[in-house]
Amino acid sequence: MAQNMLKKENKIFKNLYNNLGWEIDKAIERDDWKDTKEIISKGKDWIINEVKTSELRGRGGAGFSTGMKWSFAPKKIGSRPHYLVINADESEPGTCKDRDILRFEPQKLIEGCLIAGYATGAHVCYIYIRGEYSFEGQRLQDAIDQAYKRSFLGKNACGSGWDFDIHIHYGAGAYICGEETALLESIEGNKGQPRLKPPFPALVGLYGCPTIVNNVETIAVVPTILRRGGKWFASLGRPKNTGTKIFCISGNVNSPCNVEEEMGIPLKELINTYAGGVVGGWDNLQAVIPGGSSMPLLPKKICETIKMDFDSLIENKSGLGTAGIVVINKDQDIVSCMARIARFYKHESCGQCTPCREGSGWMWRILNRATKGETTLSDIDLLEDVTKQIEGHTICAFGEGSAWPVQGLLRHFRKEVDKKCSNDPLIKKKKDVPYLIDQHLLEKKNA
Ligand code: SF4
Repeated sequence: MAQNMLKKENKIFKNLYNNLGWEIDKAIERDDWKDTKEIISKGKDWIINEVKTSELRGRGGAGFSTGMKWSFAPKKIGSRPHYLVINADESEPGTCKDRDILRFEPQKLIEGCLIAGYATGAHVCYIYIRGEYSFEGQRLQDAIDQAYKRSFLGKNACGSGWDFDIHIHYGAGAYICGEETALLESIEGNKGQPRLKPPFPALVGLYGCPTIVNNVETIAVVPTILRRGGKWFASLGRPKNTGTKIFCISGNVNSPCNVEEEMGIPLKELINTYAGGVVGGWDNLQAVIPGGSSMPLLPKKICETIKMDFDSLIENKSGLGTAGIVVINKDQDIVSCMARIARFYKHESCGQCTPCREGSGWMWRILNRATKGETTLSDIDLLEDVTKQIEGHTICAFGEGSAWPVQGLLRHFRKEVDKKCSNDPLIKKKKDVPYLIDQHLLEKKNA
């Protein structure tokens, strides 16, 4: 048994495996909707300050301070209404945490919506859910109906004096609609393509009105934070990387699962304690994608000691992202794995920016040829160059999200990629392939 396991009393999502019931009366037994009216009566500033004290960072991928984001909403409601939009367009490969909140802990999200809506001045909330989550959408609608029946939503929601309504909006399966401004375009009935920022949605968002967009998990933890105090949440994890987090563990593990744990838990401990270990044993581990497919992979050496939080992963040139952990063991061809991911991003680019639209196709084609042994060493140099041409040159972060996995591959597995170039005339002539690859990399470094 791991030593640093999250204590039972500190778990926020007590029904993550649906053994206690999702219905509203069961949720109330677990303290959902407890003292909600009192929390709201403390006022917007108190709520936002408490969320700031908790150091909660967005759980959708970017990790931006939630309290800070809320404080960007105009203090007074002017001629334009404010909106709250919940991003439930969970599409990052390797990620399925919001899904379990939607179907097993929906009241945590709904209560969080009311509190966040009040704190940011929104009377209306849209929950944008991916179209493929039809069951989860239906479950969420049932949960919303139950909340209305108890007067937790609607006029004078929960006796707070604040009117608040929630509507569900279904997406149609485009990954890019998980980008907050593309999501807003999609709700408005337009093509789901990201907007140039600034202006940011907090000032000019849905229908041109001030809008706060938050991820499902981010909002679902807010009621517990306010009931137990921002300091309690901040006491878990480490400074600036606080609280608990739902990790999704999949790939070559014996028992894929979702688990709520303390931020900063060692990756090795997570995999061994909750996912039954790597298929074939820890020594059979090749690499791990730590935060959904858009985050650079980490080789086994780093996985031995890395801690799962925002800053530890950035220090190791990767990212926590959505905390979708994909384990890749030595039975896999790492180049084929990354070619498959590149194909996904090529397919999902919205096509507005040339570097992303063209570059994602280039990356996929080169990697695909590499898997068949049809590349030369200079193709791989070109591949690296293409990733640099995309990074930082696009409207939205999708560009980086498509380039970073390839950069991670080249950073940690360059020799494996170069070995695929067996038909390169330079390599064909000689027998000592590893030596040649070393020589090629050295020349490139010195160039
Ligand atoms: Fe569209 Fe890609 Fe540009 Fe984002 S980076 S706006 S997905 S083309």
